Amino acid sequence: MGPRDGIEDDMSVPTKIDRMEDGDIVIRWDDETQTRWKAFELRQACPCATCREKKREVASAPSKPKLLPVISAAEARPVRIESMRPVGNYAYNINFSDGHGSGIFSFAMLKRESQPRGPAVAETQ
Ligand SMILES: [Zn+2]
Repeated sequence: MGPRDGIEDDMSVPTKIDRMEDGDIVIRWDDETQTRWKAFELRQACPCATCREKKREVASAPSKPKLLPVISAAEARPVRIESMRPVGNYAYNINFSDGHGSGIFSFAMLKRESQPRGPAVAETQ
């Protein structure tokens, strides 16, 4: 056993997905583990091109204390998961209550990213 830094060798598939009353999603996997996601965490982890671009802009922007962060009304409101739709046999397309629904969340990502990990996240794609 060792660290699996972003290597998608974990081909577990979901056996059941439950939506909790508080909006969390609990995914049960065929290896009998489960992962729990908050809707906003999934929203922030959205891997679509638009969101990745947005995150890169934020990360590369020099800090200017006099500029206040701009948060749209949609972003400030708690986001909910409207629907999850299987894509092939490897991913889910998730629609959020803020109208965003272009992210394809691979099983590997859904399983991996809910594990504790360090702050440095290398995107290698
Ligand atoms: Zn997105």
